[in-house]
Amino acid sequence: MDNEKLLDTFVELIRKTSCNLPVDVVSSIEGGLLNEKRGSIAYDTLQIILKNIEIAREKSLPMCQDTGTPVFYINLPCGISQGDICNKIKKAIKISVRKLYLRPNVVDTLTGKNLGGGTGAGYPVIHFEEWKKDYIRTILMLKGGGCENVGAQYSLPSPIKALEDRDSRLNAGRDLEGVRRCILDAVHKAQGRGCAPGVIGVCIGGDRVSSYEESKRQLIKSLDDKNENPVLYKLEREIARDANKLGIGPMGFGGRTTLLGVKIGSICRIPASYFVSITYMCWAYRRRGFEYKGGKVKKWLY
Ligand code: SF4
Repeated sequence: MDNEKLLDTFVELIRKTSCNLPVDVVSSIEGGLLNEKRGSIAYDTLQIILKNIEIAREKSLPMCQDTGTPVFYINLPCGISQGDICNKIKKAIKISVRKLYLRPNVVDTLTGKNLGGGTGAGYPVIHFEEWKKDYIRTILMLKGGGCENVGAQYSLPSPIKALEDRDSRLNAGRDLEGVRRCILDAVHKAQGRGCAPGVIGVCIGGDRVSSYEESKRQLIKSLDDKNENPVLYKLEREIARDANKLGIGPMGFGGRTTLLGVKIGSICRIPASYFVSITYMCWAYRRRGFEYKGGKVKKWLY
């Protein structure tokens, strides 16, 4: 493997992700603008967001002051060292902080002291998976803190009355109507926070950790992707439609553009649990990726 070239590629991936929003996201925000009444606060807010996106792209500057938690999803062919890739990513983050593509964002949780270089215990987040293909695929998401704070997890009540828990107040049962109620409740509670318009990643099932993890992974899908499960596809469309009728609008100022999309997946669970986990992504929906083979980039993603 060409070590220097791969390091440079990680730095370029970080620059692109922080400074240049993917086409599907920009098109979706532009679609929201067309849907708002000209001269309304919602219209002006979306115009400002689009101008911000344009300036960031032209000047290679971060589009938001919070450059977020870097979350990497990496697929590797058999035989490539994960430790080696980890070290390169950490080095690329330090370079990116120096080049101002990233804010030095990592603090010691107990002391609040900024560690300066953008890395630390648990940072960045890297998910590895071995695959049978002969190239490396990397996807990076920069996950803002404001929108991360409004993520939510619901534990739907067991049909056994005695085991009902706090989420039973939504009258949400273990079915898709229950899931719909949870998601709309989370969107409603997020209003005015999390920098709408947003995109919702949802996982139905799993345990507490795997469920949250899968809900975030849903956000590596492009907004144009169609859910292969027709039932979930229908639910995604219904929720997006209903959420956009709540009147929350861009940045919570009112309007028709509250959500740009909903992505729902499902993983298995045990009978005792039924989790609905929701990851909220703000308008700064920063995800980029590349495929890498033979010492060079085969393809940039998104
Ligand atoms: S939620 Fe998103 S847009 Fe809002 S401050 Fe955080 S990263 Fe920026």
